[in-house]
Amino acid sequence: MDTAEIRLIRSQFDTVTASASHRDRFARTFYAQFFARVPHCRSLFPAGMDGQRAKLVAALEYIVRGLDDTESMLPFLAQLGRDHRKYGVEREHYAAAGNALLDAMRETDSDEPWSPDRDAAWRELVALITTTMSDAADADDYPALWEGTVVSHERVLRDLAVIRLETDSPIPYAAGQYVSVQIPQRPQMWRYLSPAIPSNPFGQLEFHVRRVSGGWVSPAMVNETAVGDRWRIGSPLGGLHVDRESGKDVLMIAGGTGLAPLRAQVMDMAQRGINPRVHLFVGGTYPCDLYDIETLWQLSLSNPWLTVVPVTEENDNPWWHPYPSPEPPPGLHQRLLGPLGKVVGQFGSWADRQVQICGSPSMVKTTAYALQRAGTPVESIIHDPLR
Ligand SMILES: Cc1cc2nc3c(=O)[nH]c(=O)nc-3n(C[C@H](O)[C@H](O)[C@H](O)COP(=O)(O)OP(=O)(O)OC[C@H]3O[C@@H](n4cnc5c(N)ncnc54)[C@H](O)[C@@H]3O)c2cc1C
Repeated sequence: MDTAEIRLIRSQFDTVTASASHRDRFARTFYAQFFARVPHCRSLFPAGMDGQRAKLVAALEYIVRGLDDTESMLPFLAQLGRDHRKYGVEREHYAAAGNALLDAMRETDSDEPWSPDRDAAWRELVALITTTMSDAADADDYPALWEGTVVSHERVLRDLAVIRLETDSPIPYAAGQYVSVQIPQRPQMWRYLSPAIPSNPFGQLEFHVRRVSGGWVSPAMVNETAVGDRWRIGSPLGGLHVDRESGKDVLMIAGGTGLAPLRAQVMDMAQRGINPRVHLFVGGTYPCDLYDIETLWQLSLSNPWLTVVPVTEENDNPWWHPYPSPEPPPGLHQRLLGPLGKVVGQFGSWADRQVQICGSPSMVKTTAYALQRAGTPVESIIHDPLR
């Protein structure tokens, strides 16, 4: 797509993302139009569509923001197409979804008119999305989804569980990718989780799950999961990775369970002989939020290319976690105090690094902003679609 078309698309999409109510209205219109065209598809979706609507706008936002970088956008669309097979989505549903998207977009209250140029630009984008997704879905030889059994569930904090599974056959994901997951307690409510270990031939998977209060699925994952539960897992998504060709060292910044995909990559790198240098900042509110710090210290002791820097906003644990936090082994970085983005920014410019940020949407945004202010170019920073 040329720059004029991208500009037209972005200016229209800015109206969709102008506020939470705009986002919601757009997504409601999309699904109303979609289900009017293919009513039998309604049963493929959960009864409560709030999460689904938020996911739709987040994915579109990611696509629209990345339009000038087709090299990463097309693989992302192909991944989405492969992943959508788990819903039972067929080729003909893409035409209905494309037309619903155009209708919903036309109905947004933009200050600018829906001109023929704007219409043509959106048609082109919709064709790109639907063709890339459906072609990739048709071409994929892997199953639409995998099933796995929970083999351990460890409550490492009151609101955080480490859950391990063994899948019936290994899932071919790259370290740093994420997958969608469905649990027996919440049928049809797929949620994204990032494996915290690399893929292996035994089908072992590890997820770190934080309970979001008021959430539909994460409280059930943390509170109700039992050994023996059967989980369903969709195709791998995302492109967090270390670019070995760039010759650049790496800066990784993790907030909370955002550690998972970065940890998987570091573990994957530990299996190789030669690696770029990696600085991994891992942050939380309290010292106890650094629930996996001892594993990271062990990794850095045996891998001299890895530096781990713990960061917390508070110096002491809260009253509900009255246990001392572990001290770093001699020679390793002491914990630093302050908001993660600010602390990383205080080190100056990271312009010579490839940067990965992973955590809550607000953490990713504030950290990326702090890095840019300190001189790190925006093109060096990658992150997943915001959670
Ligand atoms: C690429 C990606 C990877 C992810 N990886 C992980 C992971 O490894 N581990 C993990 O625990 N989670 C991960 N998530 C988040 C996860 O997919 C769910 O969004 C989260 O668990 C909440 O689901 P829920 O059903 O409990 O809440 P929902 O019912 O979906 O949401 C309920 C309310 O909580 C808000 N909310 C949703 N998520 C958050 C949040 N993180 N913080 C604060 N408020 C929130 C929503 O806006 C909504 O108002 C990932 C998300 C993405 C996009």
